[in-house]
Amino acid sequence: MAKYDFLIVGAGLFGSVFAYEAACAKKTCLVIDRRNAVGGNIRGETWDGINIHLYGAHIFHTKDAELWDYVNRFARFNHYVNSPIANYKGEIYNLPFNMNTFSRMWNVSTPSEARRIIQQQQQASGTEVPKNLEQQAIRLVGHDVYEKLIKGYTEKQWGRPCTELPPSIIKRLPVRYTYDNNYFNDPYQGIPLGGYNQIIDALLEKADVELGSDYHHNRDFWNKKASKVLYTGALDALFDYSLGKLQYRSIRLENRRLQTDNFQGVAVMNYTDRETPYTRIIEHKHFEFGTQDVTWISYEYPCSYEETEEPYYPIGDEANVVLHQKYVQIAKQHENLLLGGRLAEYAYYDMDKTIASALKLARSVFEKH
Ligand code: UDP
Repeated sequence: MAKYDFLIVGAGLFGSVFAYEAACAKKTCLVIDRRNAVGGNIRGETWDGINIHLYGAHIFHTKDAELWDYVNRFARFNHYVNSPIANYKGEIYNLPFNMNTFSRMWNVSTPSEARRIIQQQQQASGTEVPKNLEQQAIRLVGHDVYEKLIKGYTEKQWGRPCTELPPSIIKRLPVRYTYDNNYFNDPYQGIPLGGYNQIIDALLEKADVELGSDYHHNRDFWNKKASKVLYTGALDALFDYSLGKLQYRSIRLENRRLQTDNFQGVAVMNYTDRETPYTRIIEHKHFEFGTQDVTWISYEYPCSYEETEEPYYPIGDEANVVLHQKYVQIAKQHENLLLGGRLAEYAYYDMDKTIASALKLARSVFEKH
């Protein structure tokens, strides 16, 4: 007899939300993770009193009041509003693209002046229906903003020309004809006071957790421990890459402690030129309005997946999406296997979407039983 109702592979946000919902439904869970800590990529550590986002900046934001209430059960959030700065060869612009950006770019002051310039630049480009990221970007914000704030950053981040990237990537960013530097359109936003770990700890409170345990080293051994398995890792690994490898883009973070109370005056500064090898510098203390005498910054270098073996961003082109779907079909043949999360779904998920997906799965599973 299996000891647990569920084996959850991966102690990240998806697996942890599912474990919590399982406990609420009086089901038992064993959660395993190959890392030596829970939390996946939202895990942090406190250095010099500053909460460090170990796997890149995580800013919680959502449109969904239910999800906002859900996370607020486990932590209190501060009033941080993400307003990153773009640094193009020393020229400073506000993000996302808004009247502050346009005014600095063209010395205009009204929305109609900005619209006119963007329209002229759109028309000069002559594209009707954008087929790639470059065309989409020029259509949205014109040629100048594309050249200074998008092209270099995007090509560094994704490691390929903007003409070979899907338009969908850039649709994540708002374009506004108001003087509003809030990076997100969502009505709810903030950073949990004291970091994200407490959320994961609360979600996993009733689960048994085994760390440093790689499922793939002995899947049969782990499978016997539970009646059902929720797998939150990459699907190609689950099926031993039998149909080929899914592609990802990765990042490498270089952390530095500086003997200054304020290095860059903002939590996120994007370096949008092609030559600077990193895409951004995060100054962690500014996520929580820190007043420490020292600061910690992280340089974010985009790199190939092979370099880090950390699958950060799915390359969502057609070939990869089709390959992922084929793996999903194989998974469906396994009756006691559930899938979910950014990796298993091969999705470019923000945290709220990850939670929404975990709650959807939990509801479908626990309402049946
Ligand atoms: N982007 C850009 N310039 C910037 C910031 C973002 O061109 O200064 C583009 C880039 O193509 C990136 C996309 O917008 O891949 C989405 O950016 P977002 O900040 O949402 O990326 P994430 O925070 O998920 O890494």
